Amino acid sequence: MLIHTIQDVRYCVKQWKKEGLTVGLVPTMGALHNGHLSLIKKAVEKCDKVVVSVFVNPIQFCPGEDLDKYPRTLDEDTKLCDKAGVNIVFAPSPTEMYGENQMRTNDFLTYVIPPFFYVNKLCGKSRVGHFDGVCTVVNKLFNIVQPDYAFFGEKDAQQLIIIQKMVKDLNIPVQIIPCPIIREDSGLALSSRNKYLSEDNKIEALVLNKILSNIKNCYKKGITDVEALKETAYQFLTDKHDLEYLEFLDQENLEETNTANDTTRVFIACKVGGVRLIDNTLLGE
Ligand code: AMP
Repeated sequence: MLIHTIQDVRYCVKQWKKEGLTVGLVPTMGALHNGHLSLIKKAVEKCDKVVVSVFVNPIQFCPGEDLDKYPRTLDEDTKLCDKAGVNIVFAPSPTEMYGENQMRTNDFLTYVIPPFFYVNKLCGKSRVGHFDGVCTVVNKLFNIVQPDYAFFGEKDAQQLIIIQKMVKDLNIPVQIIPCPIIREDSGLALSSRNKYLSEDNKIEALVLNKILSNIKNCYKKGITDVEALKETAYQFLTDKHDLEYLEFLDQENLEETNTANDTTRVFIACKVGGVRLIDNTLLGE
């Protein structure tokens, strides 16, 4: 069932809760692919009722980012969700979520601001304010849907870690379920933004996974010095790749490390053909 208003979602969830049913939430920005569907499948398996939110959240986009051209495919998304056994697709308008205050400014909107230590690195460095927008909308969705479980992909590992921190710090009564990264056979991590890649760019985009896989192989062979591991990446980079970051951080608290271990997550962001792509891997996996 496709629902556009907060009031209607609340009404349905209230009925479910009266019956003692468990509720799962999968927050998305739509343009659903198999990565999203893996979260949805997990939610349908684990919960009695599942809500998938489809909302391109304006306040998590920075000036100059792709808010206007972000792919919007609600009809297809709704069909995919129906087929997957989702009970509600919640697709609010920006006005439904934020009233008239849809700009990314805290002059008129109450924000949830994650800790600086978690956002002054990786994607937070170039996307200033992005995680304020993410935490604010996820917090709103939690308040609207009141899920027992919420499903997030390790594809956006910094986002997942920040949301886990928010839930802990603010005592939000929801259990976060992390879900592994889904890739194409080629190794390219699925992303709604892959739609912007030309066929040539798609081949160049394999560089992210190549670098991560090679680093993991080197680690498994016994190299733990982070500088030495970083060095192994450069052989894969050409002038077609604009590397934004390659970082080795603790998977729980995003602390930097000089010596890699099994709890180190390697994060990469690289622009290919003007499209910003991210990927990551946990060395102990
Ligand atoms: P998005 O629509 O990009 O905001 O993503 C919604 C959710 O799907 C987030 O929790 C993402 O981490 C997750 N997700 C996106 N791509 C993938 C993928 N390739 N594998 C696993 N989860 C993913």
